[in-house]
Amino acid sequence: MNLVESISPQQPLDIVCSVAESTLSDVHKAARAARAAQRAWAAALPSERSAALGGAADTVASASEDLVALVIREVGKPRSEAEGEVSRAVSILRYFAQQVYDPIGAVHMPSAASGLAFTRRRPRGVAGLITPWNFPLAIPLWKAAPALAFGNAVLLKPAPQSSACALRLQELLAVHFPPGLLQVLAGGAAVGSALIEVADVLSFTGSAAVGSQIAAAAAGRGIPVQCEMGGQNPAIVLPDANVGAAAKQIALAAYGFAGQKCTATKRIVVVGQASEFVHAFIAETEGLKVADPSEPGTTVGPVIDERARDRVRDAIAGAKNSGGRILTGGDAEIPIDGWYVRPTAVDGLPPSHELLQEEVFGPICAIVSVDTVDQALEVANETGYGLAASVHSNDLDSALLVSELLNAGQIKLNAPTTGVDFFLPFGGEGKSSYGQREQGKAALEFYTSLHTVTMLPSK
Ligand code: NAD
Repeated sequence: MNLVESISPQQPLDIVCSVAESTLSDVHKAARAARAAQRAWAAALPSERSAALGGAADTVASASEDLVALVIREVGKPRSEAEGEVSRAVSILRYFAQQVYDPIGAVHMPSAASGLAFTRRRPRGVAGLITPWNFPLAIPLWKAAPALAFGNAVLLKPAPQSSACALRLQELLAVHFPPGLLQVLAGGAAVGSALIEVADVLSFTGSAAVGSQIAAAAAGRGIPVQCEMGGQNPAIVLPDANVGAAAKQIALAAYGFAGQKCTATKRIVVVGQASEFVHAFIAETEGLKVADPSEPGTTVGPVIDERARDRVRDAIAGAKNSGGRILTGGDAEIPIDGWYVRPTAVDGLPPSHELLQEEVFGPICAIVSVDTVDQALEVANETGYGLAASVHSNDLDSALLVSELLNAGQIKLNAPTTGVDFFLPFGGEGKSSYGQREQGKAALEFYTSLHTVTMLPSK
C-alpha cells in the first residue's frame, strides 16, 4: 500500500496527513458509485440541489476556525489569507446554491419551420477534478460547486500536499449529498491519470507542464477539458503612476503567500525613470513580515517544500550568474524552522533569462526598465503565458489603452495581479489556459452540454 503524505512547510517534522493512496480499482469503484448517484441527482429538483449546496455552505461556515487552522498548518498560508480562503469557500457554495435557478435553455422563435425550436442543457455526468495545493479549499470548490449545482457527480483528486484539506472538505460536504456523489481520491500523478480515463468532463488546475499532458490525454478520450495553469504575470508601471500605491500593491502581489499564487506578479516593467519606483518597492518589500504563517501580520510564510525552496535558491543563483543584481532578499538562510526564502527582487537580467520567461513558484520577481509603452507591452507579452497582468497609472485613458493590448485573461488596473472573484469568469491566454473559462456564469457552459430540440406539429 502506498501512502500519501502531507507535511507542514513551517514544521517539516509535522506530518499533517498520511492516508492510503487510491488504487486503480478504487478509482473505478468510485466512478461506478458516482455514475449511479449522478443519475438520480440529475433528476433532482433545482430546489433540492440548492438546499444541499446551501447546507454545505452552512456546515463549512460553522467549521471555519478548524479549516483556517488546517490550511495554515498544511500549506503554510498566512492567517489572514487562510481566513479569506475559508470565507471565499462559503461564498462559492452560497453563490452556486442560487445558480441552480438560472435558465438552462432558450426558446427560438420563429424556428425554420412552423414549429418550435429550443435548446436545453444537461449535466455531463461524472466530473473529474484535479487540483493544486495552493488554494486547497477554494479551487476544489470553485470546480465542485458548479459541477454539483448543474447535476454532475464529482471525483476530486487533490494535490498530495493538500490531502488533509480535501479530505476534511469531503467530510463536511458529503452529508449534504447522496452517497457516492462527491468523493475524494487521494494520490499523485497515477491517480490523476486514472481519473482522466473514467471522467465525462475534466477540470484541471496546476502547472503548465502537467496541464499540457492532461489536455492531450482528455482530448484523446474526446471529453471536454479545461486546464488552468501557471503564469509569468507582469505589472506595468507607467510614468504617471501613483508610485507609493503601486509599490505597495505590487509587493503584496509578488510576495503574499510567498509568491505561490498563479496570479502572483513575477515581472515588474517600469516605463521611464525607474529609480523612484524601485526605492519604494524595496521599502515595501522589506517591510513585509516574513514569519510563521500562524502569527498575525505575517505576509510571507514558507514555500511548500524543500524542492520548492531549492528551486527559488537556484533561480537566485542563476540570476547572479547571468549578471543580475539582487536588489533585496537573496539566498541567505532565515533562522526559523521551515522552508523560507527571503522576498527577492532582481534586475539587470538578459531578456531570455529563465526568470523572465518561466514561472518560479516562490517569492522572487524581476524588474525590467524600458523607455516606452510599446516596449513595455512587448516585454509583457513575450513569454507565451497570459494569465494575469496589472497596469498602474493615474491616467485612465492610458491604462485602458494598455489593457487592450495585453495578452492576459485577467487584467487589473491600479490593482494587484492577484485576487480572483468567484463570480467572474476566470482563465488565461496561451500557455496559461486551455479550454473554456471557469467560475461565475462561465461554469454552466463547462459542466453541461447543449442540446437543440426542434418540434413540428404532428399533423
Ligand atoms: P502540479 O501541476 O504539480 O499538480 C497539479 C495537480 O496535478 C496535482 O493534483 C498533481 O498530483 C496532479 N498531477 C501531476 N502530474 C499529473 C499527471 N501526469 N497526470 C494527472 N495528474 C497529475 O501543480 P502544483 O504544484 O500542485 O500547483 C502549482 C501550479 O499550479 C503552479 O504552476 C500554479 O501557477 C498553478 N496554479 C494555477 C492556477 C490557475 O487557476 N491558473 C491556480 C492555482 C495554481
